[in-house]
Amino acid sequence: MYIHVTAECLDCGQRDPYTPKVIACSKCGSGWREARYDYQAISKTILEDIRNRPFDIWRFYELLPVQDHHPAISMGEGGTPLLRATSLGLMLGCPNLYIKDERQNPTNSFKDRQASITVTALKEAGITETVLASTGNVAISYSAYTSRAGIKLWAFLTSLVPAEKMREVAIYGTQVIKVTASYDQAKKVAVEFASQREHGTYLDRGVRSIPALEAMKTIAYEIAEQLTSAVGKPTPDESTDPENPPPWRTPDWYIQAVSGGMGPVGVLKGFEELKEMGIIDRIPAVACIQTEGCAPMVHAWKANLDEAEPVLSPRTNIATLATGDPGRTYTELRKRMLRNGGGTFESVTDEEAFRAIHVLAKMEGLSMEPASAVAFAGLVKMVRSGQIKPSDTIVVNLTGHTLPVEKMILGEGWARNLELPTQVAEDKPEEGLLSALSRISPERYPRIAIVDDHPDARRLVRRILQSQGEYTLFEAENGKEAVALAQKELPDLMVLDLMMPEMDGFAVIDALKANEATASISVVVVTAKELTSDEEARLKGRIDTLMQKGEFLSDELSDEVRSLTK
Ligand SMILES: *Cc1c(COP(=O)(O)O)cnc(C)c1O
Ligand SMILES: [Zn+2]
Repeated sequence: MYIHVTAECLDCGQRDPYTPKVIACSKCGSGWREARYDYQAISKTILEDIRNRPFDIWRFYELLPVQDHHPAISMGEGGTPLLRATSLGLMLGCPNLYIKDERQNPTNSFKDRQASITVTALKEAGITETVLASTGNVAISYSAYTSRAGIKLWAFLTSLVPAEKMREVAIYGTQVIKVTASYDQAKKVAVEFASQREHGTYLDRGVRSIPALEAMKTIAYEIAEQLTSAVGKPTPDESTDPENPPPWRTPDWYIQAVSGGMGPVGVLKGFEELKEMGIIDRIPAVACIQTEGCAPMVHAWKANLDEAEPVLSPRTNIATLATGDPGRTYTELRKRMLRNGGGTFESVTDEEAFRAIHVLAKMEGLSMEPASAVAFAGLVKMVRSGQIKPSDTIVVNLTGHTLPVEKMILGEGWARNLELPTQVAEDKPEEGLLSALSRISPERYPRIAIVDDHPDARRLVRRILQSQGEYTLFEAENGKEAVALAQKELPDLMVLDLMMPEMDGFAVIDALKANEATASISVVVVTAKELTSDEEARLKGRIDTLMQKGEFLSDELSDEVRSLTK
């Protein structure tokens, strides 16, 4: 049957033939086992073999624990795009920043990888009932795939899961059981429930579920292949073996928001396998980001412990990440990180994640659920602390967006009401419309001049101001133009670069101050230059704010501009 897969015990090393129904080692009974394949044989032809295959999760089927590699339940899972994050990269000073957009899976989260492979394996094994506990997204994803496979699903959801997500689970015909308790308690109830059912019921065992872990590793395969297409093959001097550089490239960092830790364990296994097959020659550092209110792995990592102390009552609004007790998964994950490229565990607040949602939506066009935003907040924190270097190649997993933007994210005042007076509208519809419109658009917006010789930098500032306020914007690409613009348009504020050819920012400030008409224009200097003390003295008292390029986020600049143009 599954002759290409072996289940190797992590405790005693026993190798058993793999079948989905057997969940423990035949020698020692341990449930901690991992799939192994004949890497040597596969490596000989794999890069040739995948050439004409679709770019989806089934692309590397020799390395998956299923027999059918075109299953009827497939809905186009995996093969998600790797997006360059230009604006966020500019703001953080990290030009080699990429986003793996896992929202583009069938139920909008990376759990579809896990569900598609696992449910295929269950179907092949003739299993007709499944039980799982979930913080939301696993249940949504498994619901969709079990529905297609004709498998009954019981989903135990902690009451923290937003009602919208629970309804999404229910619509697929899954039996939802709402457990008014923590996720860890819901898991225990699910285990108990499954043990009471007739056999033939499959219990999802998280990282110990071989198909689920195997599914997550495909993220690593895809990242390496996509990064190679985007950047090119590694050059000899980038390789550990300059004589013989590998065909594919790896990032320096893989960053993910973490709850139970399935994602990073799987991704690390994927990179390890690519390395074993000689397709890459190094494994990225992994950054696992948790919310402060539920960060058992971060605490254990920082205390240098190889076992995590459970958090009994998680304090976070981000239910998706509310695994208080990671159990042995943390231990396995830490071991994997330490024997590979290293990495770190870091925590951020819910508020930092909410802020990241705004930044990514407004500056990159990527809306996401709070759980995913935790990874981006972690990225910001690590760049600012210097753990991530500006030259590093970084891939952040945008894990999902399974529900519309939650109420608490936007706050009040995000829309303006336009009501047409019915009478006027009937007589003279246009007049009514225009007078109503004039009420929502005042005659004069603050006028802002953006001065920078780099088009990308001007675009970034323009986008920040456009997305977070109402301004009349002007642009100039050199000092001379800036001075002429200031005299003609009399802006309220100028966002000014210092390093420009011919007439630099210092000279622009001199010219503005020398002319009565322009002397009172507020000036925000945005510069990539490390200022000397002499230069600092030249700016002192003559500008309003100094901001360093690559070290501010969109909301910081827009807050500054808003307060100066009040
Ligand atoms: C499950 C999930 C996570 C956490 O992933 P793990 O690897 O299981 O810890 C993060 N973000 C989203 C959107 C998720 O659904
Ligand atoms: Zn064993």
